Amino acid sequence: MKINRETIISLPKTDLHCHLDGGLRASTARDFLREDGEAVPGQLEEKLRVASDNADLEQYLESFELPCRLLQTAGRLERVAYELAEDAAAENIRYLEVRFAPLLHCEQGLTLDQVIESVLTGLEQAEQDYNIDTGLILTGLRQSSPEKTTVLAEKVTEYWNRGVVALDLAGAERGHPAKDHLEAFYVVRNRNINLTVHAGEDFGPESIHQAIHYCGAHRIGHGVRLREDEELLNYVNDHRIPLEICLSSNVQTRAVESYEAHPLPDYLKKGLRVSLNTDNRTVSDTTVTDEYLLAIEKFNFSLRDVRRLIINGFKSAFLSYDKKSEILEEVTLELEEQFFRRDLTVVDEL
Ligand SMILES: [Zn+2]
Repeated sequence: MKINRETIISLPKTDLHCHLDGGLRASTARDFLREDGEAVPGQLEEKLRVASDNADLEQYLESFELPCRLLQTAGRLERVAYELAEDAAAENIRYLEVRFAPLLHCEQGLTLDQVIESVLTGLEQAEQDYNIDTGLILTGLRQSSPEKTTVLAEKVTEYWNRGVVALDLAGAERGHPAKDHLEAFYVVRNRNINLTVHAGEDFGPESIHQAIHYCGAHRIGHGVRLREDEELLNYVNDHRIPLEICLSSNVQTRAVESYEAHPLPDYLKKGLRVSLNTDNRTVSDTTVTDEYLLAIEKFNFSLRDVRRLIINGFKSAFLSYDKKSEILEEVTLELEEQFFRRDLTVVDEL
């Protein structure tokens, strides 16, 4: 049985690592540029996408310059958050965690509260219009001052239970250790709130070790270089610490040399809690469906593997245990029903 695009779209899915600015639709960017009276570049789609000859994470991050510059008003942030959830719902993502760095959207007068509230409003509206649940993750930047990350951490505690589900740390990994931001992590964990850290993407397993053991991360963004430290890998596996894998992005940022060199199949085989995510729908020019199809094509994943990745995604969500159990029960039944309806044999294998 061939697993095609239609099959993947029909299955309920998550996206736990999805940046707001990296998902700005080209058509929306065009509207914003026109509103501002700016010239619309001829190749706007290409301009928003990472260059294929992109060399590293730092160059990848340059692709966010235009979206950040355009997203400086409450109305735009609300619209873009809504559209991101709308795009996710269109490919049957049932639970979406959107992340963004609020401080980058305060450059033309918006306060942190206005920025956060605008994005929450957009996501809430999408939840009303579509069959999707969402959570918002506030991202601090490795290269900014630790004091700023602590201010953001306080915002996470203020908006906790009002749509914000975690604090994240992103940005250039090399030369900007996560432990510089310990105070912020403490603020969040001290209030029993979730923490995820981008690590092991542009730097070795020491960065993942630091994120987990010094900073107390509950999930790791990427973690592709975890395979270089077997003991740490076993710890991550034993403690069921989820890894948010983003295949296209990992190749584009040169976190791995090629898809074939990606550790995902090995991680899945070892039982690590790995899920598939977009990272950036526009910048990486991908969708969750594309990421599944890529995994099937490159690693010859079976429907059983697909099911495992989907379930891992729901298990890794920053949701309460009760809510997660409820969603997992629904999703498990739905997957069985979908597989049965499509005459897919995976049900017998479970
Ligand atoms: Zn990311």
